[in-house]
Amino acid sequence: MSTKQDNNFQTIISHAKEYGFVFPSSEIYDGLSAVYDYGPYGSELKKNIRNYWWKSMTQLHDNIVGLDAAIFMHPTTWKASGHVDNFSDPMIDNKDSKKRYRVDHLIEGFAEKLESKGKKEEADALVEEMNQLLAKEDFAALKTLIETNKIGCEVSGTCNWTDIRQFNLMFSTEIGSVADATNTLYLRPETAQGIFVNFLNVQKSARMKVPFGIAQTGKAFRNEIVARQFIFRMREFEQMEMQFFVRPGTELDWFEKWKEERLAWHRSLGIAPEKERFLPHIKLAHYANAAVDIEFEFPFGFKELEGIHSRTDYDLRRHQEFSGKKMMYFDPEINQSYIPYVIETSIGLDRMFLAILSSAYEEQELKKEDGTSDSRTVLHISPKISPVKLAIFPLTKKDGLPEIGKELMEDCKTAFRCYYEEKDAIGKRYRRQDAIGTPFCVTIDHQTKEDNTVTVRHRDSMTQERIPMSEVKKMVLGAIL
Ligand code: ATP
Repeated sequence: MSTKQDNNFQTIISHAKEYGFVFPSSEIYDGLSAVYDYGPYGSELKKNIRNYWWKSMTQLHDNIVGLDAAIFMHPTTWKASGHVDNFSDPMIDNKDSKKRYRVDHLIEGFAEKLESKGKKEEADALVEEMNQLLAKEDFAALKTLIETNKIGCEVSGTCNWTDIRQFNLMFSTEIGSVADATNTLYLRPETAQGIFVNFLNVQKSARMKVPFGIAQTGKAFRNEIVARQFIFRMREFEQMEMQFFVRPGTELDWFEKWKEERLAWHRSLGIAPEKERFLPHIKLAHYANAAVDIEFEFPFGFKELEGIHSRTDYDLRRHQEFSGKKMMYFDPEINQSYIPYVIETSIGLDRMFLAILSSAYEEQELKKEDGTSDSRTVLHISPKISPVKLAIFPLTKKDGLPEIGKELMEDCKTAFRCYYEEKDAIGKRYRRQDAIGTPFCVTIDHQTKEDNTVTVRHRDSMTQERIPMSEVKKMVLGAIL
């Protein structure tokens, strides 16, 4: 990360803390690495993103239904899915600092430094060689690659490395009071398996016909080895996943359709086209026949935000094998039974939150009418998901203005989140709402008493207009639906 990128990222992290979006977990005990808590405005924003996704998947598609599966699952689930044997990353430890690194992160970090020194070709060649060795799982050669490039530890500065080992990312725990291997449970590392094991329950109970989808949001856990990535890479995070079950042979058409649909969803939240790109997977997992990431330009560069994968019938077939239960669907249109193929769309809620926050954040210099300048920090969050939709400000604390404001608040608060404030100058109140992304502020003044109009101030343009107070609720509802 360049110093400028780093500064920008640190500014967003500080803003998130100062305005009650994201706090380090158990901060009074110095925090817990890669675990975060969401504050008053953060929890609203996160919930709004989740609801927006949920609505777009279930309410707006009559062939997608929801599910809320438990975090704990029968341990064989993770044998069948391949996570027990394969969900691991190659790691290396520095013997002096005892710091552990993911091998690809260590080498990529070094390549980024080379690139920032103008050695792009060298950096690309290094990453290319790394990818080839990772694909072959040639750990001895990878260690040699680290040593010959003199890639050091950021803490000790030395190149005194252990051998590279595979490290499983699943957290385990025990069920019941007796600890033995048969009682070992895993905290799910993805929500998708809850959908696969419930495939027939859902299909039969909701009388779904292929093609159809099952959507789910929920917590997932991964014992990630992380370095300063805030909520981009967490150990406890939330996923929003949808598995779409299709007739074999039609999956690639559906894959294209879901790529477009997901991109349109991102656009509908105001993410600029130049901030996102598709990155097709060149090396496919053995069970996939197409896969693409939607990458977002985070403050530290383009990184994966969402994955869209054509997973064939791999998961259902494996569960059929391990459970001995049929995972077949009878398709009345073609009079055949088959295991459906699956297109999956999988997005991290916390990553989407960070994408929204970083694309919304702006520090603006403002020229005032008297020639002096001022500044503001504003979050251009789409009104559909902003934590607060409407702020209501009586100009003064007297003359009956607060009563009118509270009446408006009572009328609007059952429909959407409002905020009422009487304190401080109006300009200061606007700034506080800009900083949390409130799209509309209305001011009640003495004229309101005469003609029932209020001043609406729009967050992004800062323009003001006078409208009848009776129109306020309709205006906000029009912007958030
Ligand atoms: P990465 O390569 O960044 O580790 P991944 O390819 O392992 O991600 P998937 O298993 O495809 O990720 O998970 C789907 C989505 O879940 C990702 O696109 C991302 O948005 C989110 N996600 C995955 N791991 C984390 C994490 N540790 N913290 C926050 N979000 C995550």
